[in-house]
Amino acid sequence: MTSIEAHAKLVEQWLTPPDDGPLWKWAEANIDLTGLSALEGPYRTDVSPMVRWLFNGLQDRETRMLVIMVSAQAGKTQTLMIFAGWAICEAPGPMFWVGASEEACDEFTKARLLPMFEQTPAVAKRMPLQRSEKSLNLIQFATMPLYFRGSNSPSKLKSTPVRYFIGDEIDDWKPGSLDKVLKRVRTYRNSKKVLISTPELSGGSMHTHWLSGTQTFFHWACPHCQHRQPFRFGRERTVIFDPRDKGGFVWDTNDTTRPAGKWNWQELRKTVRYQCESCEGEIYQVEQFKLLQTIEAVDRNPLPENGVKSWHFWAAYSLWVKWDDIVVEFLTAKEVAETGNIEMLKSFVKETLGEPWALVEDAANEDELRKRCGQYKRGEYWEAKGPRRVSRIITVDVQKDHLRYVISNIREGGELRVVDYGRLTDFADLRALQEQKGVANRGVFIDCADGNRSTEILRECMRWNWIAMQGSAQDSFAHLLTSNGKTVQRPFKVKQIDPFIGTNKGATRTVTRISWSNNAFKDRLFLFAYKGKGPLFELPSDVGSDFLTELLDERREAKKSERGATRYVWKDTGNNHFSDCLLMAYVAMDATAFSRGVFNVEAKEYELKESPSP
Ligand SMILES: [Zn+2]
Repeated sequence: MTSIEAHAKLVEQWLTPPDDGPLWKWAEANIDLTGLSALEGPYRTDVSPMVRWLFNGLQDRETRMLVIMVSAQAGKTQTLMIFAGWAICEAPGPMFWVGASEEACDEFTKARLLPMFEQTPAVAKRMPLQRSEKSLNLIQFATMPLYFRGSNSPSKLKSTPVRYFIGDEIDDWKPGSLDKVLKRVRTYRNSKKVLISTPELSGGSMHTHWLSGTQTFFHWACPHCQHRQPFRFGRERTVIFDPRDKGGFVWDTNDTTRPAGKWNWQELRKTVRYQCESCEGEIYQVEQFKLLQTIEAVDRNPLPENGVKSWHFWAAYSLWVKWDDIVVEFLTAKEVAETGNIEMLKSFVKETLGEPWALVEDAANEDELRKRCGQYKRGEYWEAKGPRRVSRIITVDVQKDHLRYVISNIREGGELRVVDYGRLTDFADLRALQEQKGVANRGVFIDCADGNRSTEILRECMRWNWIAMQGSAQDSFAHLLTSNGKTVQRPFKVKQIDPFIGTNKGATRTVTRISWSNNAFKDRLFLFAYKGKGPLFELPSDVGSDFLTELLDERREAKKSERGATRYVWKDTGNNHFSDCLLMAYVAMDATAFSRGVFNVEAKEYELKESPSP
């Protein structure tokens, strides 16, 4: 391009009068999704009419913050990309697009954003003429700069005041970083902040910001009785819905769909439909497009914060998501949950329903716990025969002046038997017990979280090659899978540490330390194992009430935040040492891949190899 041509192009950009019609109409006139989306051809809002309200909010001068809590596959990123395109053409101002990390932003810019911009003539003609003005961190349009930033480097957010701030997938951000990022951003007086994400936990940042806004749901009219209602998966209480006795997705359970207690998925899929919560009339997915044309926005919050709009919608609204896929995903997750692994159910709730996660259940009571007593007495082990590996472990809770221990049998498949329990005076006694019971060095797990005794504990772990355990308030830990390079979240993490680094004690060996999520394992033990859900968990028939009392010391409390978000927290009176030992036994089982198949751990990464005793 010659400089005269370039100049002509610039002039043309400035001469095009701004379009002050609705953003959604601009989108329909300007965006073509051919080659970019499952729904090819010119962009239409009737296939997902919820976006009209979103676009109006984005365009509306009164709205300062938009909080969009949605499921995966709800078209959220596409909506934001179109908004950015419109802003570049019709309402320019510096824009920050903040993702979890800079790498995540780079990938998104290359794979999705630039292809759409290049394919949209109105945006393409405002794209930089010079290559240097188009990097992955910044695109300098003729009208405005668009910056991409990672939430993990908040210092880079300070550079310039922005008119538009977009926080993308904020629940993938490190805990606490949203507030840091929002503080860093300098904004114009008429600025707009957009937070968009699937939610995480009940009371997490997405859920909390959503509660502060209008809490808008999209209601459609039942074709049978005209009753208005939002799509909602089931009937039981969830974080954002009250219980009801009818309505939601239904399917047939009979000899055709579930012969001999196993789902025939193909037959099941044919029977999936939606039931009206008022007249119980049934609706099939072929009618979904017609339903969507009747939607209205209904605000649930009578007192939203000034200028804050918030919405919720999920996969059932999406024409490109099959309803029977949603039901199959749920039933699969439910079957896995019944084996004690609730991670899949969690991700169904967060990713597919777009709802914050919380188990709204109570802890087990003494009657339920007593039902776990098996046909054996204290000190009796499982016989190690059959194809499944069986191991003995000791888990230890360290007190000021003594140790509490539990000896367990663990069996491949995630089963656990409490063999015995008791008190010891010191680590020499523990070593003697270990040898007497024939437990391997790598079968001894010791809580090292006690601040006063942690140096001593780590020294003992190093001396005997025992494993140190550290409970954490974190819900999960990131793992990079060696098999496919993907990152997954797990409720524990195994690490080799040098406990005496920086001191002149000069460690020659490291200690294996397992960090684990208190919350995740407490949910698993107290809401599943104690209640007899999932793989076998058994107690000796002559178990003492002193032991049971400590197992029952944990109660579940619902805590309400100022904005009304409920968080569930475990509370104890400090007399829960044996239950801590049992929690560690479950962590040990997962980390040594004894629950493989139940927990889907890549065995090799976590096998705790026996190394020679000193
Ligand atoms: Zn109806």
